[in-house]
Amino acid sequence: MQFDVLVVGGGIIGVTHAAYLAERGLKTCLLERRGLASGTSAHNFSWVNASTKTTNEAYHHLNARGVAMYHDLAKQFGAERIGLNPAGAIELVRTSSPTTYDNAQQTAKRLNDLGYTARWLEVDDLRHLEPNIDFADDHAGLLTPDDKFLNAPHFAGFMAARLKNLGGEIFENCAALELLADDNGKVQGLRTDQGNLRAPRVVLATGPDTPQTLAALTGFDGFAKFPINKVPGLLVTTPPVAKNLVRHLVYTDLGGEFHFFPDFNGGLRIASDDVDGRIIEDQTPGHLHHLASGLLTRMQEFIPGFAGADCLNDCTLSIGIRAYPEDGMSIAGAVPGADGLFLIATHSGVTLAPVLGNLMAQLVDTGQVPDELAPFGLHRLAGFGG
Ligand SMILES: Cc1cc2nc3c(=O)[nH]c(=O)nc-3n(C[C@H](O)[C@H](O)[C@H](O)COP(=O)(O)OP(=O)(O)OC[C@H]3O[C@@H](n4cnc5c(N)ncnc54)[C@H](O)[C@@H]3O)c2cc1C
Repeated sequence: MQFDVLVVGGGIIGVTHAAYLAERGLKTCLLERRGLASGTSAHNFSWVNASTKTTNEAYHHLNARGVAMYHDLAKQFGAERIGLNPAGAIELVRTSSPTTYDNAQQTAKRLNDLGYTARWLEVDDLRHLEPNIDFADDHAGLLTPDDKFLNAPHFAGFMAARLKNLGGEIFENCAALELLADDNGKVQGLRTDQGNLRAPRVVLATGPDTPQTLAALTGFDGFAKFPINKVPGLLVTTPPVAKNLVRHLVYTDLGGEFHFFPDFNGGLRIASDDVDGRIIEDQTPGHLHHLASGLLTRMQEFIPGFAGADCLNDCTLSIGIRAYPEDGMSIAGAVPGADGLFLIATHSGVTLAPVLGNLMAQLVDTGQVPDELAPFGLHRLAGFGG
């Protein structure tokens, strides 16, 4: 079968990118070895934000553009239809805890300097915005009202439907096995476990498996060292709680990093970077239950009306695997040495799916690297010109 572009990987990145390719009139085929959004896109925290990306200016602006594109998509199609909750995020600090308080104040200044709205909240504001949380008198908060949270598998389903409406094809349970290229290294398509697919351009959006997929498809073992680390994270999803028990995404570094938001199943989704550090070595069920129990107890300290560890047996525990590029920033662009091969591998892919999907569609279609994408190309990596 002949297409203009083949996209490998049906996570949020691949599906969204494929829909933007089809929007540009390119005959696009997406292939996914399992089901759509069954990898990292199904197991993550789904916080759409630029508020935690303040170090590198270009990367901040890329994420802010992702946030703004969700705003536009919600306006165009409706927030519920795309699976978006635009409620905003609150960082919780204590004025009596100088380190976290000073850090949050610096973050507020930095975000406002970057043009990303961040507003300081006193404890009375917090009590008004989140009436069920038990705030202490010295609590204060930083509100980033443009942050959002997403039902990522739902959004991927929305984009898949959009791709099909625009004439694209989707093959599930179809694994890409080998890149087909002519003697000059020019891409001709893919050999898959369902037969050959022909196209002059192939885009890999294979998440944490990118190094192994690149090596397998090209036959070059050196790609197994592609600079992406796999970093696991634990997600605890509680059974449904009272409506509006929590309204925003809330995060804090007080007593260890901890974050939660009202999930789309009516429960709470809870995670913690500190806990993630403790599951790298041990992911046995007993250890995960112990860590989840600690998170639920902590949650109850914030919200006395919440069941705490008593609901542990009714919670869903899952582990997601981050594709974490070594310098922390997205890798998106043409793969040097293989004419017609492109790649998108990133953390924060929920936030970045619309912006990377769209910018990469411009690159694949026109051959020109859009300015916003230029800092994230493969040329910065060792062995690719970096
Ligand atoms: C714990 C955790 C918390 C996170 N929190 C956030 C957050 O708050 N905000 C945010 O923006 N991001 C967050 N992320 C990151 C975000 O989830 C990911 O960046 C995003 O889901 C990546 O999507 P993807 O499409 O690149 O990868 P995936 O969803 O993994 O999709 C890749 C797909 O490629 C398929 N594939 C692989 N090889 C082949 C092949 N040979 N042939 C066919 N198909 C193939 C796989 O089956 C898979 O479905 C978090 C991640 C984790 C783990």
